[in-house]
Amino acid sequence: MTVVASDPAVVLKTVFGHAAFRGEQEDVVRHVVAGGDAVVLFPTGKGKSVCYQVPALCRPGVAIVVSPLIALMRDQVEALKQAGVRAAALNSAIAPEEIARSRADLLSGKLDLLYVTPERLMMDGFLTMLERLPVSLIAIDEAHCVSQWGHDFRPEYRKLGMLAERFPGVPRLALTATADADTRRDIVDKLHLQTARIFATSFDRPNISYAIALREGGRRQLRGFLDRHKGESGIVYCLSRRKVDETAAWLAMEGIRALPYHAGLDRETRDGNQDTFIREDGVVLVATVAFGMGIDKPDIRYVVHLDLPSSIEAYYQETGRAGRDGGPAEAFMTYGMADVVQRGRMIDEGAADDTVKRVERAKLNALLGICETTGCRRQALLAHFGEIYPGPCGNCDACRSPAETFDGSQAAQKILSAIYRTGSRYGAGHIIDILRGERTEKVGNAGHDRLPTFGVGADLDDRTWRSVLRQLVASGIVVVDHTAFGALTFGEGAREVLRGQRKVELRREAAPERGRSRRRMEATAVPSGPGDELFDALRAERLRLAREQGVPPYVVFHDATLRALAAAKPRDISGLADIPGIGRSKLERYGPAFLKVIAAAQ
Ligand code: ADP
Ligand code: ZN
Repeated sequence: MTVVASDPAVVLKTVFGHAAFRGEQEDVVRHVVAGGDAVVLFPTGKGKSVCYQVPALCRPGVAIVVSPLIALMRDQVEALKQAGVRAAALNSAIAPEEIARSRADLLSGKLDLLYVTPERLMMDGFLTMLERLPVSLIAIDEAHCVSQWGHDFRPEYRKLGMLAERFPGVPRLALTATADADTRRDIVDKLHLQTARIFATSFDRPNISYAIALREGGRRQLRGFLDRHKGESGIVYCLSRRKVDETAAWLAMEGIRALPYHAGLDRETRDGNQDTFIREDGVVLVATVAFGMGIDKPDIRYVVHLDLPSSIEAYYQETGRAGRDGGPAEAFMTYGMADVVQRGRMIDEGAADDTVKRVERAKLNALLGICETTGCRRQALLAHFGEIYPGPCGNCDACRSPAETFDGSQAAQKILSAIYRTGSRYGAGHIIDILRGERTEKVGNAGHDRLPTFGVGADLDDRTWRSVLRQLVASGIVVVDHTAFGALTFGEGAREVLRGQRKVELRREAAPERGRSRRRMEATAVPSGPGDELFDALRAERLRLAREQGVPPYVVFHDATLRALAAAKPRDISGLADIPGIGRSKLERYGPAFLKVIAAAQ
């Protein structure tokens, strides 16, 4: 294809089929086309790829894209080829013959983009070879891998700094969706991007709706949720491998197409399940967090957490896998106090040193704070990343049905008093039994039925007491001592509360969900989707074409394109060209087949 056009907007339309740049994309593209370096900090789904793929086609030479994720590389190269772009990948998973072919193409100037792992790029002689070729730009994807502060530190990324000296005058971009202040500093420093322009956007994912609920009959809640998402692809995260297996098996028995994924499965099964999830529509993947890194399936419509994630960062990253295509998506979590105790135990039994453990405990508590907040979830999440989100978002459960609050000072005093009088040695269950005046064996044996606090909380039910307790833990007034089997102890401010010097405002727990969850959330209604006859017919055609070529369906067309087709029902090629996501190459390749489906449905 070489240089397609010097105008980025023309490239965007004719090659990728997008009518306009999204947000800051245009600024980045123009800056890079003009030869500037850039650091691009966009959340998942904002469209980082366009930031280097379009300049690659506007500038002469081959663009080098460094990426650590082999599976993702394969899909990106496939998608580019479908758009008529000459792209190839070099990594350890590619057969020698194909590598030889790609190298020959590279040397004869027949490549627009070359994807490489950092290991390949740094191999002896490879850089020297590249130096003799015209290079249009160098893009470093997943740039946070350069930072020790992140979870994905890759030592080889550190060496990429030398590209500045080896390729003077070639624009370089670093791109990532993870960027707290430390990581950002590391990217600039280690990749020698001190003079690069920084493009940062809000990390908000407006199309993702957040909901967090108390786990009460977890399977019923999951079933209710999935009933609203029939025919859609989604991920259900569980904490343990066993729970993954059990949940997947149960869903399968319920007639739902669910597949398990965790590190304990043999490689073949695991890869097969991942492949099915990516290549077919409407599969539920039940997984541990081992799944997800490097998956860029754009039409994941929901992410469910059946257990509390490990931190807010992890939660945001995991839920962020939903709705990359910008279409409506849901993040749904269920949790309970037991999760807090279990997570705490995992931290304590881990190999990390005390400082790290302290940080991890603080992270766990911050997450509990989000779960127990009475305010907008999005606001709380973004605040955690240092972003001020103005006002309620209207697209989270807290905004849709605002929580009622009440003065919980007295309830808090009763709990604290029971904890104090029993020597801070007991867990939630026992403390609540004392308050409710339950004469259990444990209560009797310890003589706790003789305490003045015995039975003072009979006015509230068990569920309410648990809610009060979780909120006290979330606010740090009560601390769970994980080294003592989840015993409750006093935290900061507990004494003030007990003495009546500090008020405690608490959220009243909503009535348990029954049937309510079956209603689709109005805010995210879409004009056409699964269940729409034409949409389903288009989707079947897409699957057929994808299978024929052995590629994932979204490589043919994204859901958004199918939705637009179903809504506009174009009758001819010129009508098709106006549909977002249909560039020149796909118009020729797939236009007639989809027109036929539309005509048949008239
Ligand atoms: P990121 O890498 O930031 O997560 P991608 O580059 O994978 O995002 O793009 C996310 C989705 O947005 C893709 O489905 C892509 O086709 C779509 N997209 C990107 N730019 C545009 C645009 N300007 N107009 C419409 N869709 C776009
Ligand atoms: Zn909200």
